[in-house]
Amino acid sequence: MAIVPADHNSPPKAPAAATAPRQRLIQPEAYGSEEQAETSLRPRRLEQYLGQEELKQNLAIAIEAARRRSDALDHMLFYGPPGLGKTTISMLIAEEMGTQIRITSAPALERPRDIAGLLVALQAGDILFIDEIHRLNKVAEEILYPAMEDFMLDITIGKGQAARIKRLPLKRFTLIGATTKAGSISSPLRTRFGHVHRLRFYTDEEMQNILIQSAVVLKANLKPDGALAIARRSRGTPRVGNRLLKWTRDFAEVRNAKAIDAEIATQALDLRRIDQAGLDPADRQILETIINHYQGGPVGLETLAAAISEDSATIEDMYEPFLMQKGFLQRTPRGRMATPLAWSHLGLEPPMHQLPLFEVGGL
Ligand code: ADP
Repeated sequence: MAIVPADHNSPPKAPAAATAPRQRLIQPEAYGSEEQAETSLRPRRLEQYLGQEELKQNLAIAIEAARRRSDALDHMLFYGPPGLGKTTISMLIAEEMGTQIRITSAPALERPRDIAGLLVALQAGDILFIDEIHRLNKVAEEILYPAMEDFMLDITIGKGQAARIKRLPLKRFTLIGATTKAGSISSPLRTRFGHVHRLRFYTDEEMQNILIQSAVVLKANLKPDGALAIARRSRGTPRVGNRLLKWTRDFAEVRNAKAIDAEIATQALDLRRIDQAGLDPADRQILETIINHYQGGPVGLETLAAAISEDSATIEDMYEPFLMQKGFLQRTPRGRMATPLAWSHLGLEPPMHQLPLFEVGGL
């Protein structure tokens, strides 16, 4: 596999948010400075891509079928939260197919010529990987339709009444789209993907194995119980797990600990105030605010955002998905609510009206 940087693929800078989001050890999005470190931990072979068994089985069949036909793979869409391995699996597919992969991101494809330039440069069997594909603009999408379906690039020559469309043939390529927001992809685009796969959060055991594998690259002496302690606080997300592992390794070095066992890992993560459930101070602040200031909710998103001086979009995109997945937070039509589980996680007694009916005597 060769990874060819797309000409326009410098990762787009996120638009400046009204309030710059805090950088968090447990955030699933990559920090800007992290790219290089991530590259060294990225699995190089499919056997090193742990977990996601169903996805790998489906891919093995698709790859084998494409190989037998000596054809490009069908277009694929990978969706799921950040940091679960969408980019990594796409690189490994290229590796398996022995083709090149060009990596870009939808916000880098603003002008028609950005995407046209990329398509024309593709060789037969190449993979074009577009991250954040839900952010493609209409014009770029319309260029992609005939490219995906008929391997044709329609170019408009001239302007106004004299304008005409010229069709250029393209090589048979594979488009892999990745998104964290499958619901935001237009349906004409979605239906043009032959395979649509959802990536799942990893179990503690899978995360433990990923961490043990990463520790070899990082030359860290990670014991199985240490790996499990980190895995449990990793939010089922390899990017988060690897980051926690690096912090724990640094902590162990400074403390002159020979190995990272459960005790060292727990001390390291306690110091960063990441609790047993993988919540950090910012997560807990959200739950505490709902509980202490709004009796557990419901409270509107904007009110909550103002109460903790955070951007409402940041709360929605960065904090809530995990809190909901863990069963600590509920979105209701009247606002956000802390669940009884959240109360007990914070060592508090949920009020009677918060408890499910069967717990208050079957009333
Ligand atoms: P995404 O594209 O979904 O945001 P990435 O593919 O960039 O996520 O993965 C983030 C990091 O997590 C990678 O650098 C890689 O080291 C690690 N990773 C992801 N999935 C796996 C996996 N299945 N096995 C081992 N490491 C993984």
